[in-house]
Amino acid sequence: MNKKMKCIVCPIGCVILVDFNEKTKEIMSFSGNECKRGIKFIKDETTRPVRLLTTTIKINSVAHNRLPVRSNVPIPKEKMLEMVREVKKININIPVKAGQVIADNFMGLGIKILSCSTFNS
Ligand code: SF4
Repeated sequence: MNKKMKCIVCPIGCVILVDFNEKTKEIMSFSGNECKRGIKFIKDETTRPVRLLTTTIKINSVAHNRLPVRSNVPIPKEKMLEMVREVKKININIPVKAGQVIADNFMGLGIKILSCSTFNS
C-alpha cells in the first residue's frame, strides 16, 4: 500500500511517500524524508500512531470560560476521541497554574492531564 505521510517531528514537515504492507506493517520503501527522524516517524505511524491530546475544559471563572489542557505523553490515535470526550467532562476551579496536574492516571491509563495556562481569577 502506498501512502503519503506528513512528518510532524519538526517544522519542515516533509511529505514522505511510504510503501508498506498493511497486514504485516512491513515498510518496503520510502522517500521524501530529509533526515533519519522521519524513518522512525513512519515506522511509528504504520505500527502504533500516537498524538498529544490537546483540548479545553470548563473552568469556574468570571474572566475565563475554558482552560487549555494537554496530556503529558502522546496517546494512541484510536483512543483520542474517547479520551477527549472524557476530558471535556472535567470542570475545574481557579486558581490553576500552567503545568498543574488536572487528572492523574486518567482513565486508568497512567496518563496525566496537565493545565497549559495560569488563571488566578
Ligand atoms: S523527516 Fe526530518 S526534516 Fe523532515 S519533517 Fe521529519 S524530522 Fe523534519
